[in-house]
Amino acid sequence: MIAKKMEPFLRNNSAIRMMFEEGNRLKAQYGPENVFDFSIGNPSVPAPDSVRQAIIDLVNETEPTVIHGYMPNAGFVDVRQTIAESLNRRFGTDFSARNLIMTVGAGSALNIALKSIVNPGEEVIVFAPYFLEYGAYVGNYDGVLVTVSPDTETFQPNLKEFAEKITANTRAVIVNTPHNPTGVVYSEETIKKLAAILEEKQKEFGTVIYLISDEPYRELAYDGVNVPWLTDYYDNTIVGYSYSKSLSLPGERIGYVVIPDSADGSADLITAATIANRISGAVNAPSLIQKVIARCVDEKTDVEAYDKNRKALYEGLTKLGYTCTKPQGAFYLFLKSPFEDEKKFVEAGKKYNILMVPGTSFACPGYVRLAYCVSYETIINSLPRFAELAKECGLQ
Ligand code: PLP
Repeated sequence: MIAKKMEPFLRNNSAIRMMFEEGNRLKAQYGPENVFDFSIGNPSVPAPDSVRQAIIDLVNETEPTVIHGYMPNAGFVDVRQTIAESLNRRFGTDFSARNLIMTVGAGSALNIALKSIVNPGEEVIVFAPYFLEYGAYVGNYDGVLVTVSPDTETFQPNLKEFAEKITANTRAVIVNTPHNPTGVVYSEETIKKLAAILEEKQKEFGTVIYLISDEPYRELAYDGVNVPWLTDYYDNTIVGYSYSKSLSLPGERIGYVVIPDSADGSADLITAATIANRISGAVNAPSLIQKVIARCVDEKTDVEAYDKNRKALYEGLTKLGYTCTKPQGAFYLFLKSPFEDEKKFVEAGKKYNILMVPGTSFACPGYVRLAYCVSYETIINSLPRFAELAKECGLQ
C-alpha cells in the first residue's frame, strides 16, 4: 500500500504515460518520420563536441578517486568558482564559489531552494501557465501553491492579481523566463514592477519573500531579446539553473543554485541549501559532469537551429489561421486551441499524427504546447498535416 500523498501522482502519471505510449504506437504503425511528435522538451541539438571531448579527456586524465569520489555537498570548489566567474563576466555580478551550490538539474535546484525556506502551510506563488512539477515540489515541503491566473494577451505575469494574492503567509514566488510553455521572455519593465510589488509587500507584512528564478532556458533567447538577470532587480532572489537545455544534457542531471550575499540570511541560507542537497538524497551533483561544465563553462548550444524551427513553425501555423503569442525564448510555442476544450484539439491532432500537450498540463486550459526541439524536416513536413487539421477545426 502506497502513501496517501503519492496517490494523486499515480493518477496523473497515467495520463502522461498514455501520451508517451500513444507516440510509440503511432511511430511503430506509420514510421517515426511520419509522426510529428511535439510533446517532449528533449533538446534536438546534440551536446557540443567540446562537452563530449571534455568527458573523454577527464576520464583519461583525472585520478579516479577524485573524479568518482565524494566531495563537498555543494560541489567541487573549483567548478563553482569557474561558474561564478563566468556569471560575473556576463552579468557584472560579484559571486564566488561560496554563492553557488551544484545541483542535480533545475528540478533539484528548485527543491533545495524550497526545502531551505518553506515551512509547512506557507504559500508559494506561481504564474499560470507553469511547469506543473512546481506543485509537486512545493507539496514536498507541505507548502501551499497559490496560482495567479494568466494574462492570455501577452503571457507576461498578471501583476495586478499577483499583488492581491500576496499575504503575510507568502514565502516565495517562482518565475520562469524564458518560459515553458509559452516561450515568452519577461521584459525588464515586468521584472521591475514585480520587484517593486515584492518590496512593498515585504514592508507591509514585515516578512521576507524570496523570488526563485527558474532559468533552464536562459541562453535560448531569439531576436536579441534581453533576458534580465534577476538578482540585479531584487535582493532576495535565488537563481536555479540547469544545463539540461543550454548544453543538451538533461540526462546528466546538472545545474546549480545561486544565493547572492544580498539575500536575507544569505550565510544561513547557503548552509541550509547545502545541507538540503545532502539530505534530499542527492548528496552532491554528479562529479564527472561538474568537471566537464567547468571546462565548457562558456560553451553554447546551437541557438540558430531552434530559431530556424521557431520561425518556420510560427510563420507556418499563423498563416494557416492558428493563433499564438510569438515565442521569444525556450523552444516552445503555446497555441490557442480552436476548440474550447483543448483536449478535443489534441485528440483531433492525433488523427494527423501530430502530438501536442494540452494546456491543462500547465494549468492553462484552452491552449496546447508544441515543443519545437525537433528536426527542421519534422516542422516542414508537419505543416501540410496542420493545414488538414485547421480545416477540420474550421480555421480555413
Ligand atoms: N523548470 C522548467 C520550467 C522546465 O521546463 C524544466 C524541464 O523541462 C525544469 C525546470 C527541470 O529541468 P531539469 O531537467 O534541469 O531538472
